[in-house]
Amino acid sequence: MPLSDIIDRIAKEEARVGRAPGSTQLIAVSKVQPLERVVAVLEEGHRVFGENKVQEAASKWPDLKERFDGVELHLIGPLQSNKTRQAMGLFDVIHSVDRPKLASAIARIAVEEGQCPKLFIQVNTGEEPQKAGIMPADLDEFVEECRALGLPVVGLMCIPPVEEEPSLHFALLAKMAKRNGLDQLSMGMSSDFESAIAQGATHVRVGSAIFGEREYG
Ligand SMILES: *Cc1c(COP(=O)(O)O)cnc(C)c1O
Repeated sequence: MPLSDIIDRIAKEEARVGRAPGSTQLIAVSKVQPLERVVAVLEEGHRVFGENKVQEAASKWPDLKERFDGVELHLIGPLQSNKTRQAMGLFDVIHSVDRPKLASAIARIAVEEGQCPKLFIQVNTGEEPQKAGIMPADLDEFVEECRALGLPVVGLMCIPPVEEEPSLHFALLAKMAKRNGLDQLSMGMSSDFESAIAQGATHVRVGSAIFGEREYG
């Protein structure tokens, strides 16, 4: 589906639910996509992209940033502590802050480097053992901890369990954000971004609907 169709669908959903036009940012998730598809989307003028692995992003985005001005890069996948410094140098926004150890590492490196990406806290709304994200019961304390460290936390992020109704998770995330005084919500993917917009998403992360199915291996 062309980029313009996705942009159109976002605008229609914003209008349908009475949200301000342009209040949802589209993150084009370019992980594992052939470079020519990513370049095509850049050539159409889109500048906001998401990657889920630090290594993969490091292998393609420095070159693309040279070729295209104004790129904004979002890390949407789990972050290992030993890759924190590299990630902070590469990404403008990190959506996967999910544990005290990582928060401390980011705070320390931010002081050393004199800069810090914007941060979302990832919440494991489905409480799935294999999934990243802080548990809902631990969230409020973790937000406090991040604030005490001086971290620029702007919102919450979630990836609902595949077999469950995503809108319930989106509503839960919105409620948790509101309770903690956070106004940005990173939620919604190719199959459910309209439902996420209806629940207040400020950032939708859309991959395959823009680029086509990912070609693994
Ligand atoms: C891959 C990925 C997406 C995009 O998924 P699509 O279904 O291709 O839109 C969104 N969020 C995260 C965290 C991802 O890893």
